[in-house]
Amino acid sequence: MTAGQNEIGIIGGGISGLLACKYTLSKGFNPTVFESRDEVGGVWTKTIRTTKLQTPKSVYQFSDFPWPPSVAQDFPTQNQVFEYIQSYARHHDLLKYVKLNSRVVRVSYEDGPSEEEMWKWTLWGGTVPLEYLSQNRFLQLLVHKPGEGILSTITLVRWGISKFVESHVRKKLRLAKRDMVPNHSFLKLCSVATLPEGFFDRVDQGSIILKKAQRFSFCSQGVVVDGDTEPLKIDLLILATGFRGMDKLKAAFIWPAFRDLIDKEDTTRLPLYRTCVHPRIPQLAFIGFSESFANLFTSDMTCQWLAELLDGTLKLPSIKEMEKDVSQWDKYMKQSSGEYYSRYCLDAAQIWYNDQLCKDMGWKTQRKKGFLRELFEPYRPMDYA
Ligand SMILES: Cc1cc2nc3c(=O)[nH]c(=O)nc-3n(C[C@H](O)[C@H](O)[C@H](O)COP(=O)(O)OP(=O)(O)OC[C@H]3O[C@@H](n4cnc5c(N)ncnc54)[C@H](O)[C@@H]3O)c2cc1C
Repeated sequence: MTAGQNEIGIIGGGISGLLACKYTLSKGFNPTVFESRDEVGGVWTKTIRTTKLQTPKSVYQFSDFPWPPSVAQDFPTQNQVFEYIQSYARHHDLLKYVKLNSRVVRVSYEDGPSEEEMWKWTLWGGTVPLEYLSQNRFLQLLVHKPGEGILSTITLVRWGISKFVESHVRKKLRLAKRDMVPNHSFLKLCSVATLPEGFFDRVDQGSIILKKAQRFSFCSQGVVVDGDTEPLKIDLLILATGFRGMDKLKAAFIWPAFRDLIDKEDTTRLPLYRTCVHPRIPQLAFIGFSESFANLFTSDMTCQWLAELLDGTLKLPSIKEMEKDVSQWDKYMKQSSGEYYSRYCLDAAQIWYNDQLCKDMGWKTQRKKGFLRELFEPYRPMDYA
């Protein structure tokens, strides 16, 4: 693509859309953000007031726009996050590129290539304090990565450290007494949970009741949890079972050839190269479709990569090579995330993922000064500014 000539459509004005807007602008493109709501900020515009960020703000921040000093706490409130995102948009003067109250109802290729032509393409776009536990290079050494053999380098060390941390956390939080010992190991991806302040105090006081169950059913008084004889009396049930991103996407795609590519019954995940582009769907990128320890960090990195791709600085490999990479990544996710596989989570492999993007962009992967800092200091968005 040639900078300055191309219109970029961005659906959504949350952090992912704003980042995509900022980075494509920086390369001279003309972005338009379509946002169905009446303000930018995405999920942070309308969230329960008591919600706080669960990721420390040091990693949940824009790489070129630090949190203001007025936000002193590590886990800002919903309103502070919302204000921060809004001020990012104002700071980069992004609001003039956003069309509010504009819902995109479907995506299609008008007068696009025929199905036959499409299958001949060879290149996408060718024509067209927790952070210390995972976000540093030393700990990345302990994480199994895509393409690594099962008995790679330090499997035993990995296992030992995982067991040590598990036993420490189990003891500290008295998990056995509370019947909350997880079934998965510490190093399993996508299984980090951040709890609100005083969570376990409330468990001990009895105002929070924890129940481990595979299934539950409804009854007139509330809910019967598998294994319990008495029903739990409840007035309101909240199913915090996650978003249905794939369903939304399938509904939006009207071009049959592409809809079929994503609407495969055997997969709940979108096979995305670098978590961003589908090898066989050109001119379309996905931001924020993968989860991570800090989603903003990942969206920021991916948008920088995407901007370089659009700018022509980096070239994608062939469809075959991308598909090979995606399937290697898929296999890895199945091995390391188990039941959480469908959530497409980077989590502990974040630095490894950033390294892949940096290599693609021709950037240095080791971005700290000094060996020890490189090994032990957590990686943050500002390291890639
Ligand atoms: C309560 C809560 C707490 C969270 N805490 C954390 C945390 O601590 N750490 C973390 O990393 N992540 C957290 N997350 C995850 C959070 O979703 C991401 O961090 C991030 O805000 C997602 O941004 P996004 O732009 O990708 O998506 P969203 O914020 O969901 O933005 C998507 C935008 O697209 C718009 N849109 C959707 N469809 C259309 C359409 N068809 N046409 C036009 N506009 C459309 C929506 O209106 C929305 O504004 C939390 C999420 C919630 C709900």
